[in-house]
Amino acid sequence: MNIILLGPPGAGKGTQAERLEKSHRMIQLSTGDMLRDEVTSESELGRQAKEIMASGELMPDDIVVQIVAEQLCRDECEFGFTLDGFPRTETQARALDGIMIDKGLKLHGVIEMKVDDDALTERITGRYSCAKCGAGYHDRFQRPKVEGVCDECGSTEFNRRADDNEEAVRHRLAAYHAVTEQILPFYREKGILRTVDGMATIDEVTKQIEDAIEQLQ
Ligand code: ADP
Ligand code: AMP
Repeated sequence: MNIILLGPPGAGKGTQAERLEKSHRMIQLSTGDMLRDEVTSESELGRQAKEIMASGELMPDDIVVQIVAEQLCRDECEFGFTLDGFPRTETQARALDGIMIDKGLKLHGVIEMKVDDDALTERITGRYSCAKCGAGYHDRFQRPKVEGVCDECGSTEFNRRADDNEEAVRHRLAAYHAVTEQILPFYREKGILRTVDGMATIDEVTKQIEDAIEQLQ
């Protein structure tokens, strides 16, 4: 099963993709994570990406499309994948169609996660993740079972993203509404778009996504 989770920054795409990886063995492919890895490794691409990502603007389409094309046929994807944060523009959506055809893969569905803008700032500014395994948490909505200790790997070190501040969030939300939202009709016309209520609790959203996946199979 190959799906896209589409929604604004902070909608819960990464949280749900993590769960689909555990429950369905669908590999999470997050372009944001891939770009952050480039920044950490201080590659040439990472140096370009650092400033753009910090400001909350979008990276150029050709760069992101190339990164995704390299990742889509990994052996680990035999049970499928969840694209998280890609595509974000119509050019990327059309390029993805081409990549899928080239690789003989099928896109089963696109799940839109709808969340009010007002809720997103609180979600993003309270977000943090385990420095060792990347598991995601929130100061208020998703705390570890033991304070300061990662549920998944026991690490006691956590990171907050450089772009999870109010200024960058404003730009990221503006980019979502101006550009990314415009690709919804592209998938609606293909008949593979489903919408879930991302304002619900994390467990309820998981259930809605499970139901959507069932229908899309
Ligand atoms: P995205 O990948 O779409 O940017 P995340 O999955 O990282 O968003 O979620 C942003 C933050 O909001 C995280 O800290 C996460 O724990 C929290 N979160 C995710 N889904 C929900 C939800 N349904 N209700 C409340 N908080 C949530
Ligand atoms: P995310 O982790 O999905 O919130 O992405 C973090 C940042 O990475 C975004 O604000 C963009 O600067 C960049 N980025 C991630 N995915 C894409 C994409 N598909 N197209 C353009 N820029 C992206």
